[in-house]
Amino acid sequence: MPELPDITLYCEALDTRVTGTRLDTIEIRDPFVLRTAEPAVDTCSGRRVAGVRRVGKRIALGLEGGLWLVVHLMVAGRLAWIEAGRRARGGKALARFEFERGTLVLSEAGSKRRASLHVVAGAEGWRQHDPGGLEIPGSSRAAFAARLTASNHTLKRALTDPRIVSGIGNAYSDEILHAARLSPVTLTQKLTAAEITRLHDAAQGVLAAWTERLRSACGDDFPARVTAFRDGMAVHGRYGQPCPDCGTRVQRIRYADAELNYCPRCQCGGRLYADRALSRLLHRDWPRTIEALEAQKPP
Ligand SMILES: [Zn+2]
Repeated sequence: MPELPDITLYCEALDTRVTGTRLDTIEIRDPFVLRTAEPAVDTCSGRRVAGVRRVGKRIALGLEGGLWLVVHLMVAGRLAWIEAGRRARGGKALARFEFERGTLVLSEAGSKRRASLHVVAGAEGWRQHDPGGLEIPGSSRAAFAARLTASNHTLKRALTDPRIVSGIGNAYSDEILHAARLSPVTLTQKLTAAEITRLHDAAQGVLAAWTERLRSACGDDFPARVTAFRDGMAVHGRYGQPCPDCGTRVQRIRYADAELNYCPRCQCGGRLYADRALSRLLHRDWPRTIEALEAQKPP
């Protein structure tokens, strides 16, 4: 699932290409992607783009007159940009947005139709799509501590819950917990003050470093090859490979419909967790599916 660094890059690339220009038409290729009937999607055509913003893992295009197009890519949704005059390549487009300068294509790999487009009006419609999690960049340690400890969850769950913190999923939570030297199954209300500070610093540092890294790799291009598995990640997607800091083999725990990765020496005092027991623990701390986690409303 594209998380804060990737979504930020999508928003920046879109902003330079479409803000201030006109959205000519929206072509819905797969009716299931459009989850709203009112306002009608056709009423967006011919409006200028007022701005682009990220809210959590969603991308929102603001149109003149207070309409918003809200895209959630979920796991396998991706965006592509085709400059005006260029031919579109094949592939399974769910929707195409024709702007003055080019065409934005929303597509989704695989057969699970999870990516979504909502058309909403005004701030009220907009707020329904904000799960309300804390934005880590620029947040204070006090605000972070308050959000984290308001409920008692495993750290893995807390970091990926969009009602608690914003924009983080499976990949960057693995990386943040490794950088913070904390176990994914530590409970939030058991954290010491020093551990909360370490986690907050790690979260800010990891997200800022990866955003900058992706930005310099992308340059002025539209982001391509958006993936949750990046060269240079410490533990995420690296099961069985050596931890870059201590050389211990990276371990995994399977839960819900995903898998988390951690270094037993750096994060758990050398303890190896039994996958099955930990899976049960995480299962109890988890909605059944990724859709359920992402669809949560503010508390
Ligand atoms: Zn290690």
